[in-house]
Amino acid sequence: MVVADKPKKGNIVRQSYVWALLLTNSFSMKSEKKCSHCGEWTTWEKQPTDRCGHCNEYLDPRSLQEKEVREEKERVFRENDFFRVRENDSFLMIMVRKTGWALHAIFAAIAWAFLWFVTTFSG
Ligand SMILES: [Zn+2]
Repeated sequence: MVVADKPKKGNIVRQSYVWALLLTNSFSMKSEKKCSHCGEWTTWEKQPTDRCGHCNEYLDPRSLQEKEVREEKERVFRENDFFRVRENDSFLMIMVRKTGWALHAIFAAIAWAFLWFVTTFSG
């Protein structure tokens, strides 16, 4: 970075350097986080799976746990989903599921159109 090479030029240069740093940080989603296990600062990409560079512990164990709970819920939801085609489904069952899914999609589209209509024209 050009501005980083000449920090002696005064406050404005230093400020713009800090701003550039902040911007690149927020765009790359990288940041620093103090590890709650060893107390060292380490890079943090704001992902639940990020680990500390010093002690290799998870930086955000609570969000990792939440992520696992969410994924487990999604997995259960998918497995109980009537419209999902199973491997041992007969051709008829696949047709029933696909037709059901299509009807469900059409119904959802109508519901959304209706909601949009009501919210747009009722005010
Ligand atoms: Zn650590």
